[in-house]
Amino acid sequence: MKIAVIGTGYVGLVTGTCFSNSGNDVTCIDIDEKKIAGLKQGEIPIYEPGLKEMVLRNAEEGRLKFTTDTPAGVREAEIVYLAVGTPQGDDGSADLSAMWAVVKAIAPHLREDAIVVTKSTVPVGTNATIYGMLQELTGRDCDVASNPEFLKEGAAIDDFMKPDRVVVGVRRPEVSDKLEQLYSPFLRTEKPFLSMSPESAEMTKYVANALLATKISFINEMANLCEKMGGDINDVRRGIGHDSRIGFAFLFPGVGYGGSCFPKDVRALNAMTVSKGLEPTMLRAVDEINERQKSVMANKLDAHFGGDLSGKRIAIWGLAFKPETDDIREAPALVLVDWLLEKGAAVVAHDPEAIPNVRAELGDKIEYSERRMATLDGADALCILTDWKAYHQPDFAEMYQLLKEPVVLDGRNLYDPARMAARGYCYHSIGRVSVD
Ligand code: NAD
Repeated sequence: MKIAVIGTGYVGLVTGTCFSNSGNDVTCIDIDEKKIAGLKQGEIPIYEPGLKEMVLRNAEEGRLKFTTDTPAGVREAEIVYLAVGTPQGDDGSADLSAMWAVVKAIAPHLREDAIVVTKSTVPVGTNATIYGMLQELTGRDCDVASNPEFLKEGAAIDDFMKPDRVVVGVRRPEVSDKLEQLYSPFLRTEKPFLSMSPESAEMTKYVANALLATKISFINEMANLCEKMGGDINDVRRGIGHDSRIGFAFLFPGVGYGGSCFPKDVRALNAMTVSKGLEPTMLRAVDEINERQKSVMANKLDAHFGGDLSGKRIAIWGLAFKPETDDIREAPALVLVDWLLEKGAAVVAHDPEAIPNVRAELGDKIEYSERRMATLDGADALCILTDWKAYHQPDFAEMYQLLKEPVVLDGRNLYDPARMAARGYCYHSIGRVSVD
């Protein structure tokens, strides 16, 4: 099939690349000239495991092209995917300005039989609005489908190629059939292709993200309580997770969720709820707990250093909002960095992939290190914010030698408190006893 994907970010680039990998002819379009020029040279603008190799291979074989020329990119396409950003607007609802700009830009150039598909996460009713806009702009009924994306950054290729399910929202069964055909190479293990109304598909994406965010906020609230009650959240997690009604997924306590999806999607669903005169009690609590959780490391540092951080040198391991990505949007680590700088501390940070993005935002307000151990040299404490694999089993004796004080604040519960005590560390984690 001939496919155009508009918006070549985390989702658009992965979508376009995976569709080209199954033999389709894909054009990825973006207004960011630098990004497209780089992609044409084989430079991948984001870090995502396995993506680079797949982009290079499919581009070389002529199935994957990149352009800033929207009319030329969509003219031949049977399916036009919209994957532009839908960030949080000033009032918490999704900002759809990029989406509207794209709809206006493509309307005069669409094939008569083109199917326009929203891949971006968009508020319920957006599909119907796009359908109306295209009717007005083209003078005909265009097929507009919704196909929300459930991939996780850090495992995006795998998630796209082996989805748990594919959800589409359509008005006509023929559109569903065509999309099922497009997805058939990824559904060979009998994972379901679920066809529903556009409104249900749009709602599904928000409900999925809001439920995942709820699980995180729930376990974080329980972790904070555990700490006060003298329990260990890791034991509690194991104690509940073996109940088949509960399970283990997404019940790891930490420093709060971040990224470009959960925070904005919870708030957008909150705004939708309010706009319909309903009370978003749960959604509001999920967001509030998460905002509070982002301060948990600051509170622990404050308590440890008696409220005075000025002149302290704090090492940070992990800046990305989660491992295996360079994405720092709404990353809890950046909230901690801001707080430390405000308190007069010096920060030296390591991250395997996110340093260029942080440097672009913070410049030389903090120090960066290419090597995780080098951050510890002379530091008064180490804070772990992202659970990159490289942080799981460091050389604790070397760490002890390098740190000025053997103080570790672990926002991801990577180590065992008793073992850390035996190694001579002062160790604080989330929802477990601290060892001093
Ligand atoms: P992103 O910011 O990485 O990429 C968006 C791209 O759209 C950018 O490259 C931007 O230059 C481009 N763009 C903006 N306006 C344009 C225009 N008029 N014409 C062409 N290109 C334009 O965003 P993302 O993380 O890929 O997210 C895209 C959508 O997918 C969002 O709605 C998001 O909520 C949703 N989503 C994201 C994830 C994720 O993990 N990142 C997962 C599922 C769904």
